[in-house]
Amino acid sequence: MTDFYQVDSLLTPDERAVRDRVRTWARERLAPRAGDFWERGEFQADRVLELGELGIVGGIIGAYGCPSISSAAYGLASQELAYADSSFTTFFGVHSGLAMGSIALFGTEEQKQRWLPPMARCEVIGAFALTEPEHGSDAAHLETVAAPVDGGYRLNGGKRWIGNGDNFGVAVLWAQTPDGIAPFLFEPDTDGFSRTPMRGKLAKRGVTNVEMTFANCFVPESHRMPVAGFRNVAEILRITRHHVSWTALGEAIACYEAALAHARQRVQFGKPIGSFQLVQEKLVEMATEITKAQLLSLQLSRLLDAGNATAGMTAMAKANNSKIARDCARLAREILGGDGILLQNDVIRHMLDIEAIYTFEGTWDINTLIAGRELTGLSAFG
Ligand SMILES: Cc1cc2nc3c(=O)[nH]c(=O)nc-3n(C[C@H](O)[C@H](O)[C@H](O)COP(=O)(O)OP(=O)(O)OC[C@H]3O[C@@H](n4cnc5c(N)ncnc54)[C@H](O)[C@@H]3O)c2cc1C
Repeated sequence: MTDFYQVDSLLTPDERAVRDRVRTWARERLAPRAGDFWERGEFQADRVLELGELGIVGGIIGAYGCPSISSAAYGLASQELAYADSSFTTFFGVHSGLAMGSIALFGTEEQKQRWLPPMARCEVIGAFALTEPEHGSDAAHLETVAAPVDGGYRLNGGKRWIGNGDNFGVAVLWAQTPDGIAPFLFEPDTDGFSRTPMRGKLAKRGVTNVEMTFANCFVPESHRMPVAGFRNVAEILRITRHHVSWTALGEAIACYEAALAHARQRVQFGKPIGSFQLVQEKLVEMATEITKAQLLSLQLSRLLDAGNATAGMTAMAKANNSKIARDCARLAREILGGDGILLQNDVIRHMLDIEAIYTFEGTWDINTLIAGRELTGLSAFG
């Protein structure tokens, strides 16, 4: 794996062991079928229980049946999954990071005990339902309402783009309450709930996103997590954007390595194309940006474990790494020439999947503005 500046030497033996374990599994069990499943728009569902045995699901929670690995180890696991199959990594990110992470942060003791152990084993799949048709970047202004009634809440509204929305056992669902935006544990067999898979999606085709509708759904009081306010959404995203920075890195490295291999073996004008100065310039640009991104994500992991990673820091790493991954995919595609658009060479799949990474968990613009707000003390958005 690409490591021009020996970043590996900055990892602990435990971190290397997690990375190597996930790498072996992902390359043997995910990568060989990733392109086919992507083309058919199908999820590698039969790999879910195997993922639960890798010791990474809910990996930074460290209780309730979840392993306790460092943020760097967790990030490296995300990187390795993304190198093999970015769609499957989105399943992992939503389930383990957004859903389990929210329950660990905001749930009651009883809620954590009920949901986290089976989710750590991947027996129950989690989703995270924040985005709405009219509220993507401005998620602070959600319109889905949970109105208090006897014994619980009546939920009305709709959600869009919800990953794992077709197969979840529990969704962390954000809705307006009289106290502000609050997270609920929502189960799919609730009366009044309906969902439609989103069609025509040309990125992350190997994982399903759905639109959800809630028509007078009853949610018992015991399913509300005891926090309120948009700051809680910001808090879970502060953590998961760290994971996404590593995911983007995995895709950038996959593209770079495909380009490097092609540049060494493809002969034009009697020479390997890697001997041409313009091709070398592209490879060096990719390797330079990957190296910078590796150091950025690793230091962010260390800050996170020390309790010193701010929202601006994780936003900056997410924005940077998704941007450089996008650039690396474009350059790799160029170096592969026509072969770059063939699905069997993986680069075009990564290139399209990165478009989703660039946009979800806060677009590049929004994450840049979160970092900008922290640097200046001035908010550029409401
Ligand atoms: C594949 C995929 C999976 C997803 N999975 C989930 C999921 O599991 N759960 C979930 O809740 N959501 C999910 N999302 C939703 C995702 O978080 C949103 O798409 C994202 O927040 C952007 O919202 P939007 O698409 O509505 O774009 P918009 O908010 O409409 O933005 C459109 C453009 O306007 C720009 N813009 C908006 N406001 C500003 C501003 N103030 N300043 C400058 N530029 C601005 C944006 O940067 C963007 O370029 C997913 C999305 C995708 C594509």
